[in-house]
Amino acid sequence: MTRISTVISALADLVVPVVCLVCGELDEPLCGSCERRLLSSGVTRRTIAVPGYPHVIGHAAVVAGPELLRLVTAYKDSGRSDLAPLLGRLMSAHLPPPGLVDAAVVVDVPQSRRAYVRRGWHPVRALARAAGYSLTRALELRARHVDQTTLSREARWQNVAQTMRVTAGAIDDIRGRRVTIVDDVITTGATVSEAARALWVAGARDVTAVALASVQRASQETHR
Ligand SMILES: [Zn+2]
Repeated sequence: MTRISTVISALADLVVPVVCLVCGELDEPLCGSCERRLLSSGVTRRTIAVPGYPHVIGHAAVVAGPELLRLVTAYKDSGRSDLAPLLGRLMSAHLPPPGLVDAAVVVDVPQSRRAYVRRGWHPVRALARAAGYSLTRALELRARHVDQTTLSREARWQNVAQTMRVTAGAIDDIRGRRVTIVDDVITTGATVSEAARALWVAGARDVTAVALASVQRASQETHR
C-alpha cells in the first residue's frame, strides 16, 4: 500500500464504522457469532503427499469457505495487517499450544521476493507470531517462483517442485529435529509438500504442519 493510500484508509477508519468482514454486522472485523461459526468445524487433518519422502499431516484450525477466504484476502492483499491478532486467535483456538508442538522447531513457509515487494511484509510470519509460535527462519526459495494464487492445481504442484531449501545457517537447527511448518491456508498442499521435502532433505527427523485454514475441493482427493 502506498503512503497516500495508507493515509486515506486511516482517515476512512475515522468515519466508517467497523463492520464484521463476514456478515457486515456493526461490531468488529469478525463478530462473535461469525467467529463461533468459523471455529465450529474443529481441527481438520490433511494428509499431504511428499513425493519420495514420508507424507506430512497438516492440522488446520478452520475449514475455509468463501467467508474466511475473504478475511484472509483482506489480511494478505488489501493491507489489513491489523487482522493478524484476530486470525492468530482463530488459528490458536484449536491447534496444539505453540510451546507444545512436540518440542518441534517451527518454521514458516517462505514468500517469493515478488510477493514481498508487492506486500511489503510477511503475512504468514505475522500470523504465526500472532498465534504464539516462535519461529526459526529456516526455509528459503532458491528459484524463480511464480505467485501461486494465479495458478491451477496442477500448475501449483509444478511451480513449487524443488524450489525450497533449508538455508545454510539453519541446517544445524533442522537436522535430527522434529519440525512443524506454519502456513496460512492449505489449498492443494503443494507448498507444504515442498517445504516438507526441503526439510526431509536437510535431515529433519519428523515433519508436521499447522495452518489457519484448509480449503478442500473434490478435485483434490489425491493430494489430501
Ligand atoms: Zn459477523
